[in-house]
Amino acid sequence: MRPMVDLRTQYLHIRDEVERNMAEVIENTAFINGPQVHAFASELGAYLDGAEVIPCANGTDALQIAMMALGLQPGDELITASFTYVATAEAIALLRLTPVLVDVDPETFALDPAQVRAAIGPRTRAIVPVHLFGQCAPMEPVLELAKEHNLYVIEDTAQAIGARYLDRNGRSHHAGTMGDIGCTSFFPSKNLGCYGDGGALFTRNAALAERIRMVANHGQSVQYHHDEIGVNSRLDSLQAAVLRAKLPHLDRYNRTRAEAAATYNRILGDSPWLSVPKTAPYSTHVFHQYTLRLHSDLDRSKLRDALTARGVSSMIYYPIPLHRQKAYLDPRYTEGSFPVTEDLCRRVLSLPIHSELSPEGATEIAQLVLDAIRELKG
Ligand SMILES: *Cc1c(COP(=O)(O)O)cnc(C)c1O
Repeated sequence: MRPMVDLRTQYLHIRDEVERNMAEVIENTAFINGPQVHAFASELGAYLDGAEVIPCANGTDALQIAMMALGLQPGDELITASFTYVATAEAIALLRLTPVLVDVDPETFALDPAQVRAAIGPRTRAIVPVHLFGQCAPMEPVLELAKEHNLYVIEDTAQAIGARYLDRNGRSHHAGTMGDIGCTSFFPSKNLGCYGDGGALFTRNAALAERIRMVANHGQSVQYHHDEIGVNSRLDSLQAAVLRAKLPHLDRYNRTRAEAAATYNRILGDSPWLSVPKTAPYSTHVFHQYTLRLHSDLDRSKLRDALTARGVSSMIYYPIPLHRQKAYLDPRYTEGSFPVTEDLCRRVLSLPIHSELSPEGATEIAQLVLDAIRELKG
């Protein structure tokens, strides 16, 4: 089976670095907040052009900690995309904040700034753009709206580490470093993944960095002095050891993904039965996912079966819109509230893409996709 990700082959290529770093942690037994954690935070900060990096336990915690550090209060509204992974809305709802959803652009899957503008009201406190599938949301319009209405911006960059936003002055900015806080995940299958759970927050604001550190560490700034209620959310030293071994390879991993995507686009781009993903002019794309939109007359589950029969994995990210999830049902929203999201949930299909997928491998998969469509559609 051609897998969605191939973490084992990736590991075999970097085995020496990973094992050396992990052995160091075990030898010195600094399992929590050890030197590897600090070294990784400063190395990732340097990679992100000088942003401060505060590691934590996972990407969902990063979002929650960001909202706590900004002092958001129950009832405050945060505007985010209706087409995203549940964690974005989960962190909001868990803190008794109110998620206000907006629909996305059908081509880029990113939240639509015109709808963000329309959703801003007196209780709005923050915008949470999601850099979905590996390219940046339209950050300049989002940041301008935030400035105009005095809102915070929390970037969910769990899927886009290493992507760059290209601003209108021709400068580029790392995903996650443009808003007040960026939140990422090091879940194993993310573009920069560890061997368990991990996450981090990014900020360029030193005072905010201190608040984030305090919230993530039981609300204490001095040991055993708890100034407010915080959480316990840490990156394990062993996970930091893995991430230090992988970070130097991140740009190459992302290039390999982009090359595989280009191969897919070239072979699948002319098919009348699907649309290949579009890269926005304002962003690079690190292809956390390579996501097709199928023609409504092409049966997605039959296509998946035909792909499975050919040894090709596929996944649906995401099958159910947030506002149709049982836990997030809300009288403000019904079927039809977010037509683009609802349509995407019926038609998207993601193909294998990862750091070990060669152009030849991508060519073979794309041809198997065309072959599967021929079987279904003649
Ligand atoms: C993976 C992911 C998260 C959550 O990260 P975890 O480390 O699994 O908690 C949040 N948002 C998005 C968009 C994600 O893809």
